Amino acid sequence: MNLPDRARLTIDLDALAHNRDVIAAQSPGVEVAAVVKADAYGLGAGPVARRLHQAGTRSFFVARLAEGEILRRDLAGRSATIYVLDGLISGATERMAAARLTPVVSTRSQLEEALAAAGRGQTLEIALQVDSGMNRQGLTIAEAEALIADGSLEKGVNITLVMSHLGSATDPAEPRNTQQLERFQYIRNGFPTVRASLAASAGGFLGPDYACDLVRAGISLYGGGPEERPDPRLKAVATLTAPILDIRHLRAGDRVGYGESFTASGDMRVAVIAAGYADGLIRAAMGRGMAWAAGAPRPLLVVNMDLTVVDIGDAPLAIGEHVELLGANARLDDLAAAAGTVAHEVLVRLSTRAERRYIGA
Ligand SMILES: *Cc1c(COP(=O)(O)O)cnc(C)c1O
Repeated sequence: MNLPDRARLTIDLDALAHNRDVIAAQSPGVEVAAVVKADAYGLGAGPVARRLHQAGTRSFFVARLAEGEILRRDLAGRSATIYVLDGLISGATERMAAARLTPVVSTRSQLEEALAAAGRGQTLEIALQVDSGMNRQGLTIAEAEALIADGSLEKGVNITLVMSHLGSATDPAEPRNTQQLERFQYIRNGFPTVRASLAASAGGFLGPDYACDLVRAGISLYGGGPEERPDPRLKAVATLTAPILDIRHLRAGDRVGYGESFTASGDMRVAVIAAGYADGLIRAAMGRGMAWAAGAPRPLLVVNMDLTVVDIGDAPLAIGEHVELLGANARLDDLAAAAGTVAHEVLVRLSTRAERRYIGA
C-alpha cells in the first residue's frame, strides 16, 4: 500500500534518560524522582517508568490511587517507592497497602485516617505535605506546628518524606519562591530525621536550597524547559509528525478552513497535513504556532480535527513527506506558548490516534 500513513508519535526513551541526567547534574547528591502521573504526561507510564528505573530512578509520583496500582504492575519485579499525590482517600488504606503505595497525606482528616490504620495494626509509610504558600494542598503551617508539638506521630505512622510544592518556580525572580522556601525550611526543621522535597522540575533549577533531598521531576524529564521556554540542555522526548496529503496554491482573498480562520493576503503555497486536534495538536495554536519542515519553521494557518494547513512558501516539499508538528525543532514550549497553555497540557493532549512508537534502549 502506498497510501500516506497516519500521524506518528515517537517517544525517545534515551532522550528521557538524558533529561534525567541533566536534572540530576543540577543538584549533585539529590535524588531525582520521576513524576509519571497522567500516564507519564501521556507518553506511557509503563515504558517511561521502566526506562527511568533502568537509569537509576527509584521514586515515582502519581496523582491517583488507580495510577499507582497500575504503575506497581508496570514495575513488577523492580524495587520502587510509589507516592500517590491524592493522599489517603477515605477507605483506601487496604488498596494502598496491597499495592505498597505511599500516600502523600495533605489534610488533617487524611492524617487521622493514617493514624486509625496504624491503630488497627497496619504499619504505614506516608509522605506529609505542608502548604508553604501555594494554597492548594497540604497542612497549614499551624497544623504542621501542632503536629510536631503533640507527638501523635509516634503512634505508628512512619513519615518518610516531608514535602511542599512551589507555585511560581518557573519565574526565578518571583518573591513567592523565597517566601515558600523559608516557610518550608521552618517546618522541615520540625522533622529533622525525615527527607525533604520542595521542588518539581522548575524548582530543581533554582539551586540546592530548593532541591532539598529529592526533586520531583515531571515536565523537564519530558523536555519542557524549567522557565516555560525551550532549554537547550533538554532533549525533546515526544515527536509528532504527520504526512502531507496535498499541496495547494492560494490567491489573495482565498479563505482556508472554517469561518474566518485564515485569509490569504497574496499568492501562497500551503500543505494540508494529516493531523489535527484529534491527534493532540492544540487547536488554539492556529494562527500562532509553527510546524517545522524542510529546515525551517512553517506557520500553522489552520488546525482542524483531522487536518492542519501550514504555509510552506517555496520549500521543496512533496505529498507524503512528514512535517514535524512537535519535536526537536517544533519545540514543546513554543507550541504551548502559541496555544496559550503550558507544556504539560500539550503533552497530555497527545491522543492515541497517532501511531505510537518507542525508540531508545
Ligand atoms: C505534577 C507535580 C509535580 C511535577 O511537576 P512538573 O512541573 O511537571 O515538574 C511535582 N510535584 C507535584 C506535587 C505535582 O503535582
